[in-house]
Amino acid sequence: MGVSGSGKTTLGLQLSENLGLEFYDGDHFHSKSNIDKMSAGNPLTDEDRFEWLESINEAAQKLVASKTSGIFACSALKEKYRILLSKNIENEIVFLYLKGTKEVIQARMNARKGHFMPSQLLDSQFKTLEEPQNALEIDLTKSPAEMMQETLEKINLSEFGLVGLGVMGKSLARNLANNGFQISLFNRFVEDKEVSIAEKFIDSHEELKTAKGFEDLEKFCKSLQTPRKIFLMIKAGVETDEFIEKIKPYLQKGDILIDGGNSHFKDTKKRMDYLAENDLHFIGTGVSGGEEGALRGPSIMPSGNAAAYKNIERFLNKIAAIDKNGGSCCTYIGADGSGHFIKMVHNGVEYAEMQLIAEVYALLRYKNGLNPDEISEIFHNWNGGQLKSYLLEITAKILTKKEKGKWLVDLILDQAGNKGTGNWTTVTATELGIPATLITSALFARYVSTVREKYESIPSNTENESKNLNFRIIEKAYALARMVNHQQGFGLIKTASDAYNWSLNLSEIARIWTNGCIIRSTLMEDIQIYFETTADLFEVSEIKQQIIDFKGDLKCFCLSALQAELPIPCMLSANDYINSLNQNINTANIIQAQRDFFGAHTYQRRDAEGGKFFHTIWE
Ligand code: NDP
Repeated sequence: MGVSGSGKTTLGLQLSENLGLEFYDGDHFHSKSNIDKMSAGNPLTDEDRFEWLESINEAAQKLVASKTSGIFACSALKEKYRILLSKNIENEIVFLYLKGTKEVIQARMNARKGHFMPSQLLDSQFKTLEEPQNALEIDLTKSPAEMMQETLEKINLSEFGLVGLGVMGKSLARNLANNGFQISLFNRFVEDKEVSIAEKFIDSHEELKTAKGFEDLEKFCKSLQTPRKIFLMIKAGVETDEFIEKIKPYLQKGDILIDGGNSHFKDTKKRMDYLAENDLHFIGTGVSGGEEGALRGPSIMPSGNAAAYKNIERFLNKIAAIDKNGGSCCTYIGADGSGHFIKMVHNGVEYAEMQLIAEVYALLRYKNGLNPDEISEIFHNWNGGQLKSYLLEITAKILTKKEKGKWLVDLILDQAGNKGTGNWTTVTATELGIPATLITSALFARYVSTVREKYESIPSNTENESKNLNFRIIEKAYALARMVNHQQGFGLIKTASDAYNWSLNLSEIARIWTNGCIIRSTLMEDIQIYFETTADLFEVSEIKQQIIDFKGDLKCFCLSALQAELPIPCMLSANDYINSLNQNINTANIIQAQRDFFGAHTYQRRDAEGGKFFHTIWE
């Protein structure tokens, strides 16, 4: 592609000969009326071009269907033309853009005879030209032989690079290859450790046979088409900064680093600003789905420079999970580190979702006296209805797993680990003033599990215990607590969106969380729809009604668990949160009075207008 006179036919014919592929001159696909129009010196309109581009695309599609390739010379000046040309063959098509100045081309045009396009139309061609972001650029001032050499080298380069072949990186690499992308893979070499990790990994997977493996960073970068698109799937934190320093010397203007690790959103913004000083792009990307999701389709949450994102969109869209309407579970989230921010909140909500299931399990096991198989059965049944979620599904499976006749869960040490995202969510919620009480409780529950070992077990005293709760009550209590968790989590996202001017689309975020990620659920599908008309789940009439209907069940759950002396921090938190929303019960007034008493912090009055502040001499 390129403006008329850029030498497309010359290069195309040479490539055709060299590669043994058929050459197709785009001009031959024009209708007679288009040719007449151009010959009369009139530029074509978009309508004129539409049919023409479609017929080229049809011819290209036929080649792909018959598993052959071909070379097409076509000006394809606008992005929408290129989209049309790529229809249904987005992953098969490579655009070569013959780039040069108007002056150089003008000189060539003037020297040319017998072409139906008068050279004065070049001006309009340059006006129309929208330079492609995704094409391989060929410098047309070079000689035809040099241009061909450059093309052959560039065509052989990988279109996407991935760094870090740990659990997630390996799965993502296979996912990219399964989707037909030509990739280069890099894993560092550490002295006295395994050598040629990338190459060995490639050799052990059939789908990676066209991938290239490296442990030399310079060679890895040189193996990539520019602008380079490099996905980092490495340890988050200082390791990411160190790696950026190492790779930076091999990058050039316009290259794009995509950080798929669980980085802190504020670090992502800093890295973006730092790399922008060298005209390098940094896209912070949340990825959820674990090892299996990364292989089969994760939920992907990219943010940062929107134009740079356009360059990587097709890769990410293709490897992401698919929602129930066939959409990709990847969407551009917004500016700065908003992608990593929502991934952080996702993980916070995930903490609470996991803890709620653990608390329901506790009640069923220690109060109702069911065994793990029986609890699994109940979870399995719930998973067939409105409570369907990935986490409930896997917990039902976990509970039936046995080793030598014993339930595996009973053999697992009762100490929960964490990698810090729950902590970040809690800190951020406190910074933004959002009561994410379930996330915080779930995080602290994990902390408690690691410190309680040093305390002597306190004997239980369960006199006055009431009877067991029926499963329907437990189910409704659990459903309501989940609504509170989601309301708080999305409330945190909404507040951050306002505070940081991100204009986040809550419904779209919920949509990309309906599949691929760990907190996918039927509730998330409903939430996607609710957020089309509201920014607060508790304003949705269905949810308001369920709060009223299920409130008593949640209270019964808590009472029953408290009587049995079970730790249920998230359920209690949900119950407390709902109680706190009751406008008829006042406690914050006491706090305000105390603050005014000891610190003259003032207070506002119900009986005064205009938000006036008062101070009382209390003694
Ligand atoms: P692993 O520990 O399995 O892999 C870490 C990778 O990072 C390895 O390839 C490792 O190389 C590389 N690495 C570590 N330190 C450096 C360094 N200083 N320079 C270059 N490379 C380095 O982790 P995961 O694959 O599980 O996770 C990778 C990232 O993805 C993390 O940021 C994680 O938080 C995030 N993530 C993880 C998810 C999961 O479910 N596991 C889900 C979503 C995101 P080497 O083998 O040489 O040590």
